[in-house]
Amino acid sequence: MPRIISRSEHSISRADISRNALKVLYRLKDAGYQGFLVGGSVRDLLLGRRPKDFDVATDAHPEDVRALFGNSRLIGRRFRLAHIRYGGEIIEVATFRGVGNEEDGGAERQVSAESGRLLRDNVYGTIEEDVWRRDFTANSLYYNIADFSVWDFTGGFTDIQARQLRMIGIPEARFREDPVRMLRAARFAAKLGFSMDTTVADEIVSLGGLLDGVPPARLFDEFLKLFQSGHALASYHELQRYGLFPRLFPATAAWMGPGGDSRSRFIEDALRNTDQRVADDRPVTPMFLIGVFLWGAVAERAAQLAAGGMSDYQALANAAAELARDQAERIAMPKRFSIPMREMLQLQARFDLTRGARALAFLESDRFRAAYDLYLLRARVGNADPAIADWWTRLQELPADQRRQALGVGRSGGGDGDGTPRRPRRRRRGHRRVREDAPETQPDLQPGV
Ligand code: ATP
Ligand code: MG
Repeated sequence: MPRIISRSEHSISRADISRNALKVLYRLKDAGYQGFLVGGSVRDLLLGRRPKDFDVATDAHPEDVRALFGNSRLIGRRFRLAHIRYGGEIIEVATFRGVGNEEDGGAERQVSAESGRLLRDNVYGTIEEDVWRRDFTANSLYYNIADFSVWDFTGGFTDIQARQLRMIGIPEARFREDPVRMLRAARFAAKLGFSMDTTVADEIVSLGGLLDGVPPARLFDEFLKLFQSGHALASYHELQRYGLFPRLFPATAAWMGPGGDSRSRFIEDALRNTDQRVADDRPVTPMFLIGVFLWGAVAERAAQLAAGGMSDYQALANAAAELARDQAERIAMPKRFSIPMREMLQLQARFDLTRGARALAFLESDRFRAAYDLYLLRARVGNADPAIADWWTRLQELPADQRRQALGVGRSGGGDGDGTPRRPRRRRRGHRRVREDAPETQPDLQPGV
């Protein structure tokens, strides 16, 4: 039996629950079903945080939910879920799952259910069964719309108060069932400031290798939750702490070595930057951070290729392609991100060219901004020329005609005595090969930061 925490004993107020979620819960209740708010939203409300989304659990079967809500559709093949849409908000309604329906292992055990209805009935279950498939006690509380009480089967209520991340069941077994739970643990530690139970922490350290078997597309979803939700730096620290970061970004980890120097600073600056953007409600793209993670290794590889006789520009392009390919075996980004990422890495070669039509075209291209942001980060840790970074910064602040002038496009001269920025003096770094067939730009290929 659950511990039932009555309305007067907890802090969840309906005023903090999405109106649409409430609508769904009340309609389920009025139709005679159970309706609970569940998972992260109950946890976040108890912590006084605004939930990202509101998930509902019910004893109504998906078809029943579908029939109750005109604005709903069913998704998923075996575990069907209802998505109920209200404008931009989607309330996900899941039927209680029966035992033996683990996300991964269960999928195999239940294959025979695919074809016939015979096994269908034990796909769904009661709330008492539903609770045990959840990962952490803090994620296993149910808020009951019938009387506004919270149902606690696992001790999650006190764990939330103590800010403890405790696994439901035996950590080793639960991590083996679904290794992504290790990343979820790191994420909740980062986002909520929870401390991990020692067995949870120990098991993650020893089972980290299991992440190698997780499909790269699923790891991309987790990447987004870890690194694009405002706590990227904290996530990174947690992942490093438990040895998970090298599992996700092997090339980055190899390039960084033991860390603690300007290489870590480069990575951490980028993470801080991303967090700031999220805090300011500015857009973020996953290709930027992944590109930052790869940059050092790309530059190193490019230097090798260039030493073998390839033009510097081509070397950078090839190195970016190579490392992006390797990284995709761990974390699969959709093409709409991976292509711009490679461009951003390659385009680091373009900043040295500070005059002419090509420089102007670069400045005005869609790809300039991300490449420039990366260049700035590099300049800040001494991996790129700060004077050149500054030149491009000031150039962007000019009106269009003065930009042309500064770049010496269309008119002669520019940059002197007419308010346009002074062109940076090129800092020569050793010997540069100049070849007839090479593009005008030559990248600064310093191996590493
Ligand atoms: P967030 O605040 O990031 O949404 P969340 O806890 O709500 O965190 P979701 O991924 O939205 O996480 O999942 C909702 C709920 O489903 C979780 O609270 C948990 O109870 C359960 N859950 C999700 N993923 C897993 C998993 N891999 N293993 C076990 N239970 C899971
Ligand atoms: Mg959630």
